Amino acid sequence: SVVTRFAPSPTGYLHIGGARTALFSYLYAKRFGGKFLLRIEDTDRERSTQEAVDAIFEGMAWLGLKSDFAEIYQTQRFDRYREVVQQMLAAGTAYYCYASKEELDQMRAEQMARKEKPRYDGRWRPERDKVLPAPPEGVQPVVRFRNPPDGQVVLKDLIKGEIVFDNKELDDLIIARADGVPTYNFCVVVDDWDMGITHVIRGDDHVNNTPRQINILKALGATPPEYAHVSMILGADGAKLSKRHGALSVTEYRAMGFMPEALLNYLVRLGWSHGDQELFTRQEMIEKFDFDHVSASPARFDMEKAYWVNHQYLKITDPAIVVPEFDWHLRRLGVDPASGPALAPVIEQQRERCRTLVEMAEKSKFFYAELDGYNEKDAAKHLTAEGAALLTELAAALEALPEWTAPALHVAVNGFAEGRGLGLGKVAQPIRVAVVGMAISPPIDQTLFLLGRDRTLARLKAAVA
Ligand code: GLU
Repeated sequence: SVVTRFAPSPTGYLHIGGARTALFSYLYAKRFGGKFLLRIEDTDRERSTQEAVDAIFEGMAWLGLKSDFAEIYQTQRFDRYREVVQQMLAAGTAYYCYASKEELDQMRAEQMARKEKPRYDGRWRPERDKVLPAPPEGVQPVVRFRNPPDGQVVLKDLIKGEIVFDNKELDDLIIARADGVPTYNFCVVVDDWDMGITHVIRGDDHVNNTPRQINILKALGATPPEYAHVSMILGADGAKLSKRHGALSVTEYRAMGFMPEALLNYLVRLGWSHGDQELFTRQEMIEKFDFDHVSASPARFDMEKAYWVNHQYLKITDPAIVVPEFDWHLRRLGVDPASGPALAPVIEQQRERCRTLVEMAEKSKFFYAELDGYNEKDAAKHLTAEGAALLTELAAALEALPEWTAPALHVAVNGFAEGRGLGLGKVAQPIRVAVVGMAISPPIDQTLFLLGRDRTLARLKAAVA
């Protein structure tokens, strides 16, 4: 059965390119009822940090891309890598190389002088009838993989199609350094083998590692997995996506007010399509995802589209699902979500006009916290002497209401306006400025209902005091 993996190096935050690769891997495994695993490739100890590890777990958890296995770290598997190195040495598929750095530098310089592509010339590679020099005293050797000298590696990439590599072009890769530390490409191979990975789905910046990894797997007697190399994401301007195109980390998208499912929806369509469909439930993504419809050319990131998807998602999703995320955003604004109306009905009232949860939280703050003043322009326009007179009368009318419900408030406010021969706006706008702090809010009856009797009356009175 299918096993896929996402194997980030913890050298930075979880960026959206990585998140998309993780999503594709996750979907593909789930589609076939298989398993998905998260593997932390932290062998580069200089560049790996605990903060990055935490950020990856946090981002993956927020996106709901759950690994089916316990946490896996390459740094905890060194014994296993060393064991496989020993096996390969014993089998003759790897060998010690004692060439010094100076020697190799000189070799490369000579090759370049001859206009050749620099590559290891196999000077320590054992061959039939070849006499190797005695190992120099006191030199710790590296271990090199004995790459097949000729023939080809044919990669049938699930996205890019067939790619053929000549073994002549691949030199004998170092699989363990002089200090015994296994190298990156080797660890990946042992892991993919040990973990039974059936489909390696990763960024196409790794495509040149693939023939080497396939050769090592074959030398180990393993069946290489299938590969799908996902093209990179470009900014709207066609340049490689970078910081200057805006937020890049998954956590930043959270802070910008995206729902995790909405971000996944945007990401899944970045390079993949299913007809014209733009919005997918997670189940639909799982059922429909395939590599036949993943584009081999780079996708362009479009921030406006991402916002659009988030807005569509907010509009159609059961508010109960949005509540925890909305709660998080209110708290971030320093607001206590318990000090006002239940969140679900507020979401329902606000979502038409809010593309993000940041907007929604800012526009809903007045429900939960005291006003920190009035919008100046709105106050100048609506909290006039005339407006104040209306608000005083209205406060008295609302205070007399036997019940505080949206329909009752609707009748009361409309009746109040009609009774004075005024359009609803003439009355509703001063109310809004008084209770919201500005002249924008959901429908006035809903706003007052959700705000509650005490807060509404207190604010109407405060506005005319
Ligand atoms: N650790 C690699 C990276 O973060 C991914 C390697 C792989 O997927 O094989 O780019």
